Amino acid sequence: MKIQDIQAIQLLLATPKKIAIIPHRGPDGDAMGSTLALYHFLLKFNHEPIVIAPNDFPDFLAWLPGSETVKIFEKDKQNCTRILNDADLIFTLDFNALHRVGDEMEKVLASLTKTFIMIDHHQKPDDYAAYVYSDTSIGSTCEMIFNFITLLDKKEAINIEIGTCIYTGILTDSGSFKFPGTTGNTHRIVAELIDLGVPNTQIPNLLFDNSSYSRLQLLGRALQNMKILEVHKASYTTLTQEELDTFNYIKGDTEGIVNYGLSIKGIHLTAIFIENKEEKIIKISFRSQGGFDVNQFARDHFNGGGHRNAAGGKSDVSMQETIKKFESIVSQLNKIPHEN
Ligand code: 5GP
Ligand code: MN
Repeated sequence: MKIQDIQAIQLLLATPKKIAIIPHRGPDGDAMGSTLALYHFLLKFNHEPIVIAPNDFPDFLAWLPGSETVKIFEKDKQNCTRILNDADLIFTLDFNALHRVGDEMEKVLASLTKTFIMIDHHQKPDDYAAYVYSDTSIGSTCEMIFNFITLLDKKEAINIEIGTCIYTGILTDSGSFKFPGTTGNTHRIVAELIDLGVPNTQIPNLLFDNSSYSRLQLLGRALQNMKILEVHKASYTTLTQEELDTFNYIKGDTEGIVNYGLSIKGIHLTAIFIENKEEKIIKISFRSQGGFDVNQFARDHFNGGGHRNAAGGKSDVSMQETIKKFESIVSQLNKIPHEN
């Protein structure tokens, strides 16, 4: 981030402000961790922050400190629109384009003449914000929040609450420190957070060891549905709405299932297709290992985006047609997904 931008933001934050903080739709650990970390940080400096998520966050994040204060735009449009209209400043975290908040909230945000600050690690950031801290080499927005607070010269304000939120996003977006964005800096930040007293062994437990029995059965079904496209070093799986209903699906239950496709020896590209009857879409997650760029793949073919090795998108046609399209595109790839 440019030094002039940091100075301008320091000046903006020098007096108490009403500040809306917004994660992307379908918020994950990094989106909720980063917005709540910033929320707790701004509270310490007498601002009036509020996190407004476009839609609900999964239950496995409900223990995050401050999550009970989060407003959900799609559940309370009038009130949230009023808060947005009253805000002095708007932070958008963990996304790169306003459409990532969904159609209705995008319209509201686009109509505002406010100072926007974007902090994000996705590729190709749009230019709606007055101040942009974008770095696609950093593994999580939470790591960027740590850097941002440090750049503001307020590192001493990071306490266990803020650190817990930051640790959560670093952990979830790095696939528990496995993904390529994990660097020495990531571990140095984590080391500082642990020294501060952030409960680093309890957090993974809260996040990953809280499944219901039916969630594991749903995982079992997804594993059984998995198909391998061996010559293309790809795999994919599906979950229909009927299957989700059968296993009493709740938000968050499908999180992480996509990664199993990559755990098969020799597979470098995988996808999960999840039917959402209410939204009339098939939501897709892509993962790759090594050189195959799923961000570009999702952008080119499935109206999506993300990072080189983890991206998402959607499809408006049926599950069958979506799968047919995926198989056909994969079979026409002139480069087989490879490890490096
Ligand atoms: P996930 O598969 O875990 O939902 O998302 C993986 C990554 O891709 C995340 O960084 C997420 O923000 C991004 N992503 C997921 N779905 C979409 C989408 O529909 N559009 C765009 N642009 N990015 C997405
Ligand atoms: Mn992220």
